[in-house]
Amino acid sequence: MKKVGTVYLVGAGPGDPELLTLKALRLLETANVVVYDRLVSPEILSLIPKSTSRIDVGKRPGSHPVPQDTINQILLKLAYFGQNVVRLKGGDPMIFGRGGEEAQMLERHGIAVETVPGITAAQGCAASLNLPMTHRGIARSLIYMTGHTLDDQLLQMNWQQFSLAQSTLVIYMGKAKISQIVGKLVQSGLSSSTPALAMCNASLSSQRHLSSTLSCLSKDVEEACFEGPVLFMIGEVVPMAATNGVSQNVDKDILAVAANA
Ligand code: SAH
Repeated sequence: MKKVGTVYLVGAGPGDPELLTLKALRLLETANVVVYDRLVSPEILSLIPKSTSRIDVGKRPGSHPVPQDTINQILLKLAYFGQNVVRLKGGDPMIFGRGGEEAQMLERHGIAVETVPGITAAQGCAASLNLPMTHRGIARSLIYMTGHTLDDQLLQMNWQQFSLAQSTLVIYMGKAKISQIVGKLVQSGLSSSTPALAMCNASLSSQRHLSSTLSCLSKDVEEACFEGPVLFMIGEVVPMAATNGVSQNVDKDILAVAANA
């Protein structure tokens, strides 16, 4: 009987290759073909052996995206030809990555699918600032939302569910609509002075971020002219982001002990 390949839906993390899982690395080193997206960093692509086939299905601003149907056909054909395929996606494949659609389609056609989780952009962003997304007494819940919807859907959503006190709200794909999103959050009861931050290229050497408040966020982001994917984080945990400086309040005795250690 003809051997059919397996498709591994693999998360590449936010960009830094050291944030890949060992399993992701092993599969990259042993797959027959890697089918990858735009948000996978060049540093991670360089880990794929030269002899392995690669297919770029990434969508770039200004160029035509490879339609999802075509990506599905590519994955199906490769698997039917007996290839073991790594379908490599930025962050986690099952968080705003259309991994679910691809898994369902492959399973419908009898192809074995295995998911390998990745560090999602929110975690990459928070970790790079030593920022806790939940914190006792400050943030009791965490919401990941997408800002990428059709216009009327954005307006029609139930915004109360995103405007919770004591919650951290993370917005993926929100750059184009951030001013509308902020308007809706404030209308639904979130204070306009709620701390907010935007981060571009989290975990990469080109990483940049800004701290702001809900009311100033969209203006500040526009002025920052970020180039690359941008993530927003809104909530009372945001001021806990590291400033990368030594705190002025460190106990002098402790510093003296450390200096003599
Ligand atoms: N599956 C991915 C998300 C894909 S949606 C994940 O789990 O991270 C694409 C959005 O993710 C971007 O618009 C941006 O909001 C966010 N994103 C991905 N990588 C990022 C990075 N390195 N820095 C900042 N935001 C990032």
